[in-house]
Amino acid sequence: MKRGLIHVDYTYDFVAEDGKLTCGKPGQEIEGNVLAITKQFVEAGDFVAFTIDRHEENDIYHPETQLFPAHNIAGTIGRQLYGQLESYYQSIKKQEHVFYFDKTRYSAFVGTELEIKLRERGIEEMHIIGVCTDICVLHTAIDAYNKGFNIVIYKDAVASFNQQGHEWALGHFQSTLGAKVV
Ligand code: ZN
Repeated sequence: MKRGLIHVDYTYDFVAEDGKLTCGKPGQEIEGNVLAITKQFVEAGDFVAFTIDRHEENDIYHPETQLFPAHNIAGTIGRQLYGQLESYYQSIKKQEHVFYFDKTRYSAFVGTELEIKLRERGIEEMHIIGVCTDICVLHTAIDAYNKGFNIVIYKDAVASFNQQGHEWALGHFQSTLGAKVV
C-alpha cells in the first residue's frame, strides 16, 4: 500500500516555550521523533505534506478568533516550523514529493489540495504526526477516515497542551477510526 506522511502544525506558535498557543514540554519532547520520521519518509521518496495553519491578523470572520489566542499569523515567526524541522524543511522543500499546504481550519483536508495530491498518486495510507493530538491531528484523522484512507498515528510524534485530550484522542484513533497507533 502506498503511504504518505502528513505533518500537522509543528510550528513555533504551537511548540516553542513562548509560542502563542503552545503545547509546551510535550510538544518540544517529540521534536527528535518528528524529525526522524520525516527524514525516513523523505529519504524513502515517499509523499510528504506539511499542512500548516495560516491565519490573518484580527480576522473577525474566523471562528477560531473567538476560541483561541491569535496564532500562526501569516508572515510571523510563529508560523515557522519548530526547531530543527525548519532548516530541514528548507533543505528538502524543492523535492518533487515534498508539499506544503496552508490550511485555515483544523483539518488538513479543508480548503487544501491535499486530497487531490494523495488520490493522484494512489496513496491509501496516511501517516500523521504533529500537534495538537486532540484538535488538528484529530480532525485530519476523522476526515481521512470518512474519505476511506487507512490511518497510522505515531503516539510519540503527536502532542497536545491538554494531556487528557491527548490520551482520549489516542484511544479514539484506534477504537473509532480504526487507526494503527504505533
Ligand atoms: Zn488555527
